[in-house]
Amino acid sequence: MFVVPPRPANEAERLDFLLSCGILDTPQDERFDRLTRIAARVYGADVAFLSFVDDRYQWMKAITGDGIGSSIERERSVCQIMIASGEPLVFGDMQKEPQLDGHPVVTFLPFRFYAGVPLLTPEGAAVGSFCILKREPQDAAGFDVSTLIDLAAVSMDEVELWRLNQDLERAAQTDGLTGIANRRAFDQALERAVRRARRTNEPLSLLLLDLDHFKALNDTAGHQAGDDVLRQFAGILAQGARRPDDVAARYGGEEFALILPATDQTGALEVAERLRENLAAAQIPHPRGIDGLVTVSVGVVTAGPAELSAKILVSTADARLYEAKRAGRNRVVGGSLP
Ligand code: GH3
Ligand code: MG
Ligand code: MG
Repeated sequence: MFVVPPRPANEAERLDFLLSCGILDTPQDERFDRLTRIAARVYGADVAFLSFVDDRYQWMKAITGDGIGSSIERERSVCQIMIASGEPLVFGDMQKEPQLDGHPVVTFLPFRFYAGVPLLTPEGAAVGSFCILKREPQDAAGFDVSTLIDLAAVSMDEVELWRLNQDLERAAQTDGLTGIANRRAFDQALERAVRRARRTNEPLSLLLLDLDHFKALNDTAGHQAGDDVLRQFAGILAQGARRPDDVAARYGGEEFALILPATDQTGALEVAERLRENLAAAQIPHPRGIDGLVTVSVGVVTAGPAELSAKILVSTADARLYEAKRAGRNRVVGGSLP
């Protein structure tokens, strides 16, 4: 009789690992496809697949052959047995296997033979499976799983590379001092936002923000105090990025930027004014600042889809920022493109 196995003791570690490598829901990938192809060829199997099993679902990352879907509920899968046990599993004939009697899916499968090994993390948590299926039954006792074990190990090496790449990518996009997006990430995000605005026919707004008299703050309070202020302001800016697609970035030095997709002129000016007010409310001391506080000047630009280019957005916002400085600082200057 088939019984849904209990969750393993290391279920939390399993899920943490899957989350940290960010591999679930990613598109088909040759690096994994080639491994299932090898398995199908070596074992003469009708299907070979590589899957990850999260809290609720088994996701096929690579499939060679036809007859199985791209995902299945965890509790309806066969591989969940290996997630619970952490051990290889071979069924010579699934249709006659007492352990699978009454299984909700097996009776409807066009496959009889099953052989699988768990994908194991270095700590021994089973996060997925590497399996082959055959339409015809085969003697389970004489079956050699060693190639499957090797392929599962290679798969996990690929997963580890995937995770490291993600970490590198994240580090390359983050400003070390403030933890928000850096200039490189800003450039990419702005190009993406411009493409999106053209496609969706929505306006796009950009804020450039420059702290006032910042050199004087460094000179009087010291460079470390200056760094602290940059961190505090980055926090205020990140909070101002309220929608998931808004991007707050450190543009350079004491200049920051905020990309606001699908935001018109009124909305962008409101956000800019609110940021200025939130900074005022934070009351960060500045010995030579306006009223003894750190203040910010903001240049704002909003463009419709027809007039859009990243370059024009930045140069216009920059020109307005300069106007705000000339007009006395601690203010917002904005509007549509001229
Ligand atoms: P304005 O009101 O016209 O913007 O004057 P300002 O002094 O802010 O402008 P300016 O561009 O002349 O000076 C910017 C200063 O920001 C110069 C530099 O020492 C300081 N700065 C740039 N990057 C950093 C940083 O990472 N940490 C600190 N503490 N200071 C920085
Ligand atoms: Mg500056
Ligand atoms: Mg400045």
